[in-house]
Amino acid sequence: ESVTQDGQYVELRANLDLPGEAGQARDHGAVGVGLFRTEFLVVGRNQMPAEEEQYDAYKDAAEAFPSGAVYIRTFDLGGDKFPMFLNMPQEENPFLGWRAIRVCLDEPELFRTQLRAFLRATAHGDLRLMLPLVNDVEEIRQVRELLNEQEAILTRDGIPYNPGYKLGIMIETPAAALDAAELARYSDFFSIGTNDLIQYTLAVDRTNTRLAKLYNPFHPAVVRQLHQVARVGRAAGIEVSVCGEMAANPLGAFLLLGLDITVLSMAWPSLPEIKKLVRDVRIEDARAAARKALAAPTSQDVTRCLVEGIGDSVDLKVFSGRWSLSVPD
Ligand code: PEP
Ligand code: MG
Repeated sequence: ESVTQDGQYVELRANLDLPGEAGQARDHGAVGVGLFRTEFLVVGRNQMPAEEEQYDAYKDAAEAFPSGAVYIRTFDLGGDKFPMFLNMPQEENPFLGWRAIRVCLDEPELFRTQLRAFLRATAHGDLRLMLPLVNDVEEIRQVRELLNEQEAILTRDGIPYNPGYKLGIMIETPAAALDAAELARYSDFFSIGTNDLIQYTLAVDRTNTRLAKLYNPFHPAVVRQLHQVARVGRAAGIEVSVCGEMAANPLGAFLLLGLDITVLSMAWPSLPEIKKLVRDVRIEDARAAARKALAAPTSQDVTRCLVEGIGDSVDLKVFSGRWSLSVPD
């Protein structure tokens, strides 16, 4: 069981880049899919993916987790992912450009097909729809409108779907984190995409190896935003999870638990390690460490609070040394 020493259950889910990973994810202890990246359906293709192919992929994921939730993320194109069939412009700053939800809302044919495939697949399990890079309630409203339109067509044609599915967003920008209270009014859940949230908070390109040292998940500005989103989500009564790499980093996971984020999603190879961490620590120790981390003035101080908070309960060295990669010198 994924339960801390003092009895806190922590839900561990898997991130899937490809549908074929579902079996390994289950075997490694995932109880659901916190992030199904759907870009494999479009990247490297010279044609839009057909509704039927998408429906099959989403349905298979739902059926692989009959008692768990599966979060289907809508196409996260742009940035560094460019399908051949979309005429995507050369941009000066692609990560600040035509990306993610912005592309989908501008390409209704592509997006409508994905929404329709998703809706049909909801008949086969607990599928939830997750929107990347949302900054503004208007984006959620537009998606809701497209969903309503597709639901009406399915109803008219007698095609089954589950009208009770959930619609939520990824928190990936400081704008979304700061405006979380407003966004929560239109969202059934938040999933924090720390990979992008860190990049946009620190203005450090996540793909630039030269800047890797500056890409610090324990920067106080990141910690405060995580705290803010968790607090707002709790007050609004919606689920807050993390599906960025931070959840797979032992120190990161410890911090998240301390902020009362107890739903973590990660690439399946990390699941056993993080489950071990969960079983070895006390949520009360994590909370105490997080309280100190929130008051810490620098990344180094944040890291120190977390390392001290974990104390001897975990041998951090067993975690392949990965934790130290994210710790500043
Ligand atoms: C993230 O940004 O943290 C995330 C999970 O999405 P991706 O890595 O696919 O951008
Ligand atoms: Mg992202």
